[in-house]
Amino acid sequence: MSEDLLKQTPKGLYCPVGDFYVDPIKRVKRAVITHAHMDHARQGSENYLCSSTSEKLLKIRLGKKTYIQSLNYGKKSKIGNAQVSFHPAGHILGSAQVRIEVGGEVWVVSGDYNPAKDITCEPFEPVTCHCFITECTFGLPVYRWRPQVELMKEINEWWKRNAEMGKPSVMLAYSLGKAQRVIAGLDPGIGPIMAHEAVIPYLPAHREYGVVLPEVKTCRNEIPKEQFRKAIVIIPPAADESKWHKALRKGRTAMVSGWMTTRGAKKQSKVESGFALSDHADWNGILMAIQSTGANKILATHGNTDALVRYLNGMGYESGRLGQKSE
Ligand SMILES: [Zn+2]
Ligand SMILES: [Zn+2]
Repeated sequence: MSEDLLKQTPKGLYCPVGDFYVDPIKRVKRAVITHAHMDHARQGSENYLCSSTSEKLLKIRLGKKTYIQSLNYGKKSKIGNAQVSFHPAGHILGSAQVRIEVGGEVWVVSGDYNPAKDITCEPFEPVTCHCFITECTFGLPVYRWRPQVELMKEINEWWKRNAEMGKPSVMLAYSLGKAQRVIAGLDPGIGPIMAHEAVIPYLPAHREYGVVLPEVKTCRNEIPKEQFRKAIVIIPPAADESKWHKALRKGRTAMVSGWMTTRGAKKQSKVESGFALSDHADWNGILMAIQSTGANKILATHGNTDALVRYLNGMGYESGRLGQKSE
């Protein structure tokens, strides 16, 4: 078997031939970034490479002074002796799978991905490879998403019911990606749409990309009292609750997350309603994506890796957990 193109190291996933890291966990000289979520794009590295649509989002996240280079999807660039290119992952705007080729051997790092289409980001593109490194955040058969249109219809109905009762709707959603996914599907006819200031900076990049988003008011904007009772407020789960005390106290609360599939997680989140709308692949999505790469070697990372690895080995793949020796 040919040598591993990527190795798990204390600083993160490392490509020795190209001397770069993919989504490093510590500061490094050269970081290749799959997408602008905080657990993938960390501050402190000397220089960053990402997809062109990701660049603006990364600048917001890492600061204007950060040295960031970008590549259009599909464009190949040589780093050391490795050829590197980005391919849409369907997770959030600009999210990419990283394709690495060395001497005819091709590995793909999925980052986070979702093969189901959404208008807020570029659609997932299967990339043929020998080895596919897959995330498996929701890598258990219990995770099967219902169509997003159905879920958005339910969210709008929930909001409408609350508005009719004169109660603002408080929706917990991550500031980048999930918030925009939800906002794009909201019906502005029901009432005003408001968002926490953590959500707002990411809206222009989405609009520039061509996503049609309804008007979003920041919570600082003056909204007449009776209008506020009909509003939906999008707040990241990590936001300071005290600031949102008024909205949280008087409103009905819900959360959008793949974790809302299970009753335990819903209970733990302390919200009244949960909608299992996700920007990650569900169990079937993971299997479909793996199959579409034609890869025989599959390394799993992030989440329920054991179940997926066991299943894949049973199906005849050569599979293991990233960082562990695969058979
Ligand atoms: Zn992510
Ligand atoms: Zn992630």
